[in-house]
Amino acid sequence: MGISHRASMHGTDLILLSRYLTEALWGITLSEMRPVLTCPRCDSVVREPSIWTSAYHCEQHGGVLPLRSGLSPSQEGLDGVLQGAEVPVWLPWPLPPGWLVTGFAVAGDDRTGTRGCSVALSGPNPVGEGPAEMMLISEEPGVGLGARFAGLGGPDPGSQFAKGPPAGSVEFANHEFPVWNVEARDRAAFAGEVSGNWLWLVLWPDTAGMLMVEPLQLRDLRDPGQDLDLPFGAPSPQLPG
Ligand SMILES: [Zn+2]
Repeated sequence: MGISHRASMHGTDLILLSRYLTEALWGITLSEMRPVLTCPRCDSVVREPSIWTSAYHCEQHGGVLPLRSGLSPSQEGLDGVLQGAEVPVWLPWPLPPGWLVTGFAVAGDDRTGTRGCSVALSGPNPVGEGPAEMMLISEEPGVGLGARFAGLGGPDPGSQFAKGPPAGSVEFANHEFPVWNVEARDRAAFAGEVSGNWLWLVLWPDTAGMLMVEPLQLRDLRDPGQDLDLPFGAPSPQLPG
């Protein structure tokens, strides 16, 4: 009796130990797999949904879509962006000479799908010397990713948007869409609207805005039948994280 009781206690200990080890291993795996989720409008780490709310929460901006920016500049990274993308994934194509795709950031989760997306590019400044950076952002109104890269309080281009003539245009599917200059410090920023979504173009330094002198030809990488051999480069310094 005593022996069998001791044996059964021993069995329980083993079960508890094995459960503890399994949870510990899961913890390690989950923390390795899960990227840090931040606010699309600032750098704050967001609070995850709870039983009280299904939204991610930023201390400063309230309910937001979580931003993932650790997607590598590679075909695998792009495949991750295209999965569940509810907004266009814009790319200038052909790329300006010497330019490379240098990363991605997406706002949204499994529940919402991707409602904001940013494609980073790096290349030679067409004016003067040195490198330049470009960020092409596509987002539903209110996400705030474009305004963040433009350095605005956001989340959208603001009340002065489109008050004057457009500064340039982009071309997509044989249509031309105007873009307007957005006041931004230390960079050139343009915004327009395509099919109800914001399209933002942000360039560093501001002289790289010269790339918009001619209409920029865009592709939506979600469209089927595109077999583009994209050149990838080192991750853009403009991407958070
Ligand atoms: Zn925030």
